[in-house]
Amino acid sequence: MRPQQFENPSPAAELPASAPLVDSFARRIEYIRLSVTDRCDFRCVYCMSEEMHFLPRGDLLTLEELERVAAAFVARGVRKIRITGGEPLVRRNVMQLFRGLSRLSDKGLRELTLTTNGSQLARFAGELAECGVRRVNVSLDTLDPEKFRTITRRGDIGQVLAGVEAARWAGLKVKINCVALKGVNEDEFLPLVEWAHGRGMDVTFIEAMPLGEDAAYSIESFLPLDQVAAKLAERLTLSPSTHASGGPARYFDVAETGGRIGFITPLSAHFCDSCNRVRVTCTGELYTCLGQEDKTDLRGPLRSSDDDAALNAALDDAMRRKPRGHDFVAQASGELAPSARHMSLTGG
Ligand code: SAM
Ligand code: SF4
Repeated sequence: MRPQQFENPSPAAELPASAPLVDSFARRIEYIRLSVTDRCDFRCVYCMSEEMHFLPRGDLLTLEELERVAAAFVARGVRKIRITGGEPLVRRNVMQLFRGLSRLSDKGLRELTLTTNGSQLARFAGELAECGVRRVNVSLDTLDPEKFRTITRRGDIGQVLAGVEAARWAGLKVKINCVALKGVNEDEFLPLVEWAHGRGMDVTFIEAMPLGEDAAYSIESFLPLDQVAAKLAERLTLSPSTHASGGPARYFDVAETGGRIGFITPLSAHFCDSCNRVRVTCTGELYTCLGQEDKTDLRGPLRSSDDDAALNAALDDAMRRKPRGHDFVAQASGELAPSARHMSLTGG
């Protein structure tokens, strides 16, 4: 299979086929995170409960429906799709979806990427590269095998490290995502950065967000990233980077390693004003904000007709309702109840 090219779209593909998606705060939506399953082979402590109840398979959008939703967003000007979950690579036949989405490069899609726990990457890295995936985010909070098993409740770090290597071999640019957890991986930030930068991989640290029924864990282990940055700055020279990934991370160049460190701080310095994204769950619910409950059903409109009129009307309605920002700070302080939704459902 000839690798798909997203980088050089035709001029016609630059223009959305129909009205762009703009919310009532004039933010243009160009990025969707599409969750393809709520299932996962791990049970990370900040993301899932030990005894997760997964959705009946029949509730999930089919691969064809996921592709149709994605195509509808691309027709409205979405330029970047991140496939997520749950663990996206445990969805059966997920490569069929990647192959379908890779063809949206003709319609204006500029980037197809995914966030994964890496456990299945050794198997799929080559095919992902063939589908035009150029970058992949791999979540890895520690390099210590025991701690890794404790955080993920069942993961094998060897499998993930092999997946990272396979991705690099396939030519994918890997970025490591690390949730900073007080008293858990605090002593590992510098070694993790050195390990990743030594392999040409950037690292992004993420503040734990209070989501799901285990929100208490994220609140207790919350570590503001300015503390992480200050600790790293004792050993490394960090200077603000001009790099922007199209996401909420603020990046710093590291003089000693030549790599970059990103910080995603939804609580301590939120990024809502420039929010350009929405999330679609694996059951076809559209969330216009990770931290709010408002949602729009897309599955009904998808299944009600083969043309996209009802689907587009639902997208327009959702745009009108996209909130200005999340309430994580009030939720963490107990002022408001935390979101009961797991990150694995909404798609992190
Ligand atoms: N399974 C894949 C993975 O772990 O990369 C994709 C889905 S996971 C929900 C996406 C990202 O969300 C991961 O980087 C994970 O660390 C992050 N995440 C999950 N729960 C979180 C929470 N409560 N706070 C902050 N990040 C969280
Ligand atoms: Fe699974 Fe990713 Fe959630 Fe961990 S963070 S339980 S790997 S979905």
